[in-house]
Amino acid sequence: MSINRDEALEWIKACVEILGENRDYLTQLDAAIGDADHGANMDRGFKAVMGKIPEMSDKDIGTIFKTVGMTLLSTVGGAGGPLYGTFFIQAGMKTAGKMELSLEDWTSAMDAALSGIVMRGKAELGDKTMVDALTPALNALKQAMTDDLPLNQALKNSAEAAREGMVGTIPLVARKGRASYLGERSAGHQDPGATSSYLILKTAADTWSNS
Ligand code: ADP
Ligand code: MG
Repeated sequence: MSINRDEALEWIKACVEILGENRDYLTQLDAAIGDADHGANMDRGFKAVMGKIPEMSDKDIGTIFKTVGMTLLSTVGGAGGPLYGTFFIQAGMKTAGKMELSLEDWTSAMDAALSGIVMRGKAELGDKTMVDALTPALNALKQAMTDDLPLNQALKNSAEAAREGMVGTIPLVARKGRASYLGERSAGHQDPGATSSYLILKTAADTWSNS
């Protein structure tokens, strides 16, 4: 039970599609508490990633993830671009040279990826950011390792934990990013970045449902 290089690439391609489909949804969420560009940012970044697919197709998983991160970093502005860029670059460094990922490999990649976001953005749990979806998702992976669950079940649990974390951002008052400028008025809205994080992890669980 593992994720191979081709499957890793399938996930990235599926992310391009899902983020394209959810462009308007993410933009609406960002319109409520930010500057209405999160959907466009994610779509632009992942469309650029799509253009790099040919050069990634014979590479190891670490190189694939690093290429995704570098592409997001160079094509997406704002907070989201550098944060997701860091996420994928850190995941790529953890998986350097690998042609296959076990649950342990994926968990340590996600651990490094989230640490990168936290180091860069300084958000804590409850600040109403993507960290609120990614943290429970990582915890679910660690729990799945303890429980010796198969990889596909671990990915499912992790996506469900991300969904709960995403929904959990609704009542929160933002303490980081543009939404924090609204203070108390940011409460009652779902965080766009937590939503894109959920979509990315849900896409992983769906793409790798047989692993
Ligand atoms: P911008 O806020 O610059 O317009 P985006 O709209 O692309 O960038 O992304 C906004 C999302 O970025 C927010 O919904 C939030 O989840 C996330 N975010 C903002 N600041 C931080 C931070 N310091 N740490 C983690 N995530 C953050
Ligand atoms: Mg924005």
